[in-house]
Amino acid sequence: MDGDQPFSSRFDDVYFSRESGLDETRHVFLTHNRLEQRWTALSAGEHFCIAETGFGTGLNFLAAWQLWQACAPVDTFLHFVSTEKYPLSRTDLQRALAIWPELGPFSAELLSQYQDLTPGWQHFSFAGGRVTLTLLIGDLFDTLPQLDAAVDAWFLDGFAPARNPDMWQPALYQRMAELSRPGATVATFTSVGDVRRGLIAAGFAMQKVKGFGRKREMLCGQLEQAPASRWQAPWYARPNTTTERSAIVVGAGLAGCSTAHSLARRGWQVTVLERLPEIAGAASGNPQGILYCKLSPHHPPLSRFIQSSYQYSLRLLQRELEPGEGRWQACGVLQLGSDEKELRRQQGLADQGYPHSFLYAVNAAEASALAGVKVERSGLFFPGGGWVSPPALCRRLLEHPNIQVRTTTTIVELRRDDDQWQLLDENGNQLATSGTVIICGAHETARFAQTRHLALKPIRGQITHLPADNDSSRLKTVLCADGYVSPARQGQHHLGASFRFDRLDLVPSDEENQHNLELLLGLSPELHQHFSSTPPLGARVGLRCTAPDYLPLLGPVLKPDSFLQQYAVLGKDASQQPDEQAPWQPGLYVNTAHGSRGMISAPLSGELLAAWLNNEPLPLPRDLSEAVHPSRFLLRQLVRGKQTSRH
Ligand code: SAM
Repeated sequence: MDGDQPFSSRFDDVYFSRESGLDETRHVFLTHNRLEQRWTALSAGEHFCIAETGFGTGLNFLAAWQLWQACAPVDTFLHFVSTEKYPLSRTDLQRALAIWPELGPFSAELLSQYQDLTPGWQHFSFAGGRVTLTLLIGDLFDTLPQLDAAVDAWFLDGFAPARNPDMWQPALYQRMAELSRPGATVATFTSVGDVRRGLIAAGFAMQKVKGFGRKREMLCGQLEQAPASRWQAPWYARPNTTTERSAIVVGAGLAGCSTAHSLARRGWQVTVLERLPEIAGAASGNPQGILYCKLSPHHPPLSRFIQSSYQYSLRLLQRELEPGEGRWQACGVLQLGSDEKELRRQQGLADQGYPHSFLYAVNAAEASALAGVKVERSGLFFPGGGWVSPPALCRRLLEHPNIQVRTTTTIVELRRDDDQWQLLDENGNQLATSGTVIICGAHETARFAQTRHLALKPIRGQITHLPADNDSSRLKTVLCADGYVSPARQGQHHLGASFRFDRLDLVPSDEENQHNLELLLGLSPELHQHFSSTPPLGARVGLRCTAPDYLPLLGPVLKPDSFLQQYAVLGKDASQQPDEQAPWQPGLYVNTAHGSRGMISAPLSGELLAAWLNNEPLPLPRDLSEAVHPSRFLLRQLVRGKQTSRH
């Protein structure tokens, strides 16, 4: 920052002009993409996608949001995707945006969810769900190839071509064309000849028009010639969707409630069917779920998925759930180093320069000061983490006028007739019908003929409830190592958790309580000592659902036999690129296998499902949406020629 004027010393250029930045944004990006005319003409249920190069201070985003609010019909939706290699800190963003009091309410909402950003994709939902923002943090030459979107308008920003020549390249214009919907528009502040020629070569018809203020010229245009489409694996491509905008969600745990919430915020009518008498009655029924972000310094897909999901969950909690009263608490999570391997993992993460507000390393003394009880190990502290009551979150997610909930409703069969799914009970009676069904039933997701091939397994887990007293209530943060202990909530601490593969009943066992107490020894010997003679108040058992690779299953469902037949050639030669459309179960989706981390993975998964169903940009990079795609197991089975085991 140079005074109040945001300035990049890296690029030796300003983010915007202090006198006229907002007017320039309106002239260049809003007016020359003809947004007002196009938005006024939208019909109910439509959504519009803007993509931008260089989020910077978010000025363009906020100006677009303000115009959207003023002129787009109420039941329409804006999805803004922006790239950013060097995200501003929260403090700098706040200072930069303070210049524009006129954008005050919009800046305040952005800032209420914006923390110092880490690499990876960051997803936001504003204005009751009417405005979605996906920030692709990283170099756009790495992130845009991973984007799955159909863009209506481009804001080609970024520092001046002379100051940032690496960005203004033909490969960018080509990718923009590939990501564009027919008729997509583009506008940019520059009129440099290379940029104009590059955009024309990529298929845009470009015009020079009057620039803003003293600038003589700028460029705007429209995609005239769509580029030849590249091969995309049909089993990961988007199935056709209906225009119906109503769906049935089966299961009212975290996955089901998150999916219903994401769809309802987009104007869908959603019916949630739950076999139990109450919502969040199964594995999502624990009183305290830990917002525990376990990362690997090598960034495999699971770790990147967890990181994006964790940050989205924290935003959702800030947005939706009043802290306290047993609902949730951002008390921080201490991950303690239990052995050499774990210490190496933690050191690897600590060395990566994450923002302090996201994670930092602590020694045993610092850990003890944070925890309020004596801790004898070093570790990583996640200040934004904490705990949430999953049932409180589920209830909140379902509080939406577009959502109807029916409990004590068990579906045992799915039947497709014409273009509708019929959901039947054990006597063959029809309980509900819809063109779109999303099954969010943990391991029971695989109980239907159409989903039996999905590789899901339940793992029993027991938590132990311990009475809080003055001494134990000194515990201020969550402590995690091989197990976890939470700060007191409504007079109880919760210790977790056992992993049992040998029994699937829901009856608590003394043995598992004992095991949980032993885990406490690795967290804080002082607390262990304190509780060693205290009988537990009780215990609760749940069945986590996992897939063999520990990633969730999120997305559309294939017909396995047709798939194996249709693409049998891959069994002989995996490099083949068949382009025959995949045999989808029409309108059938799953959101499951969240293991014990539904608190952090379900909310973004709900957004991903909604993006699939609503034809919006996917909030995850392509490699991650494929890593969590239900098709992955059938593909592996075909390519490796092996049967995918269900266990
Ligand atoms: N649109 C911004 C706003 O409304 O405040 C202003 C954009 S600023 C002039 C340019 C931005 O592009 C900077 O934040 C810079 O870090 C980002 N940028 C430059 N090169 C990039 C690249 N290769 N990939 C992603 N972002 C890049």
